[in-house]
Amino acid sequence: MRNIRRKVRRAQTIVPFGVGGILDLRGESFVAGDIRGWPGNAELVESPRLARKLKVAQFRSAPVIPSGKAAHATRVGPSYVRFPKWLFCPKCREMQLWLTDREMRDKQPTCGRCAGKSTLAPMRFIQVCRAGHMADIDWRRWAHSRSEGHAQRQCQVDRLRFVATPESSGLDALRVICAVCRAGRNLAGISQKNILQKMGLQCPGTHPWQSEADEADSCEEPPQAVQRGASNVYFPITHSALDIPEPSELTEDDEATQNIVNHRFWPYYIDEGDSPMADHFREAIAEECEVPEQFVEALRRRQTEEATATSYPDHSEDDLSIAEWTALSVPGSVANSDTFSVRRTHLGIDHEHPESMRKLDSNISAVVVADRVREVRALEGFTRYEPSSGDGEGSEGGRIVSVDTRSRTQWLPAIETYGEGIFIAVDEDRLSTWERLPSVRDWTERIERNLTASYKADRLREKSGPKLLPRFVMLHTLAHHFIRQLSYDSGYNAASLRERVYARSHAPGSGLPAQAGVFVYTAAGDAEGTLGGLVRQGQPPNLAETLIRLLESAQWCSQDPLCADSTGRSLANLNRAACHACTLLPETCCEVDNSLLDRTLLIGDGEIPGFFRGVIQAALEESAGAVELP
Ligand SMILES: [Zn+2]
Ligand SMILES: [Zn+2]
Ligand SMILES: [Zn+2]
Ligand SMILES: [Zn+2]
Ligand SMILES: [Zn+2]
Repeated sequence: MRNIRRKVRRAQTIVPFGVGGILDLRGESFVAGDIRGWPGNAELVESPRLARKLKVAQFRSAPVIPSGKAAHATRVGPSYVRFPKWLFCPKCREMQLWLTDREMRDKQPTCGRCAGKSTLAPMRFIQVCRAGHMADIDWRRWAHSRSEGHAQRQCQVDRLRFVATPESSGLDALRVICAVCRAGRNLAGISQKNILQKMGLQCPGTHPWQSEADEADSCEEPPQAVQRGASNVYFPITHSALDIPEPSELTEDDEATQNIVNHRFWPYYIDEGDSPMADHFREAIAEECEVPEQFVEALRRRQTEEATATSYPDHSEDDLSIAEWTALSVPGSVANSDTFSVRRTHLGIDHEHPESMRKLDSNISAVVVADRVREVRALEGFTRYEPSSGDGEGSEGGRIVSVDTRSRTQWLPAIETYGEGIFIAVDEDRLSTWERLPSVRDWTERIERNLTASYKADRLREKSGPKLLPRFVMLHTLAHHFIRQLSYDSGYNAASLRERVYARSHAPGSGLPAQAGVFVYTAAGDAEGTLGGLVRQGQPPNLAETLIRLLESAQWCSQDPLCADSTGRSLANLNRAACHACTLLPETCCEVDNSLLDRTLLIGDGEIPGFFRGVIQAALEESAGAVELP
């Protein structure tokens, strides 16, 4: 046995190494057990909005392991169990079933049967089922499953070898053989659907941290052999919420409020909406009444939306986007705090800028930088083999396994992170005019038909709202290209940036405000702070330049014309002109599984006018003109 310290970063205890996830650590393989194995000293993490939505009492986070001696004393993190338990010696090729009683703290299993004391390696294939169970493949049965003779079929010996034959390649070359009767079978075809069921194997109905004797469910799902590292072994189900303070208290009768509503510009300010004139009125009112501009803005918001405000609570329990959208799109509508601090800025475009920039400016109605946001991300459970189909009662999709596999859980594992971000809102009038164009509507309806047929429909509609609007696909694609561009410009790598798309459709008559914006933020830092790189990119002149560059680069994909012409014929593909080469992001960035993406709605093609087509055309003409200059 070899001595070794095994460590997992705290954030990773939610994703990707949260309950049910497989952890590959220097050649060893483990799976994270359910929350019954969490230590009692797990720290509480506050997020009242998320707790209400998920109907749990608490969130808890794995404690940070102190460096030094104390860490050795007790186990402090979630528990990981070795999986798969079938290991083999890379040297003598003997296979060994490494049961819990052979485990020794901080030691790697080594081969006791050959001279080299080699560290044993885990078998590459395991079995999972759609009910979320996972187990070792019965390798004894596999080795004997092609046997002709009676003696071999009756052989009950567990002495197996995992050999590689040099004459062939791939799975053909890998064979599990019985060391006693010499029966054997190579791994060719092991990934075929239902191959284990055809051998008469069943799902034992357990998770690796459960014992088959006490805790097995009866499971009818056919077990499927998959590679340990395959993407369909584990689909974590996470939820996240930004901290949004309660709305600022504004009392009608205080003196400042009275001064503002009696100001001669107040009626004009109310009427002007988000026009540049409104900014002037707000500035003037704020100056003369000696209050911050945000206060004036918040007051207007409160007055104009008083009627609808009363209908918020019903929806906002389930739909966290409502409060987030309000807090981001109107800075000052909630008081800044040490977990949420935003301020309005602008693109910095005036009449001397080129036409492309001016067109961009007229499409963007608000730019807000977030100096500080706090996000809580919680793990609800996971599925295996297939992603969950959401809340719908469809027969398709993996069944969700809760983080507590025995009882209804009162708490969920969670992690809090701090970061910064940039929020952009798109001009609502222009957007709704664009959305009414028949070509844009028809195009989006075709995507929606695929969405309806998809087993992911319920889950994705949690983000898009009941009806998929063109703005959702357009803004989502904008968010992806924004993240890609920012990763070049800001010093953050793409995987540490996240998106929030605010483009939900609401049920008719809900009275909820229309959403049209994207928020790109980091969620990697601890309470100490962030690089400040995103906030810098959100200031003039950087942001306008970034946006122009991303629109320009969104026109091209190295996979064109294939990518541009994609019609998304396969049901699984909910994207149109969007692929790995141009638009998709690491999965941690994306709220909706890298789906509902389409460059066409962003920049346009022959028939479909993309929302930003005018900006792109102007930019193209400007660069063509620039070449001709003497
Ligand atoms: Zn060996
Ligand atoms: Zn045998
Ligand atoms: Zn099962
Ligand atoms: Zn592409
Ligand atoms: Zn996305």
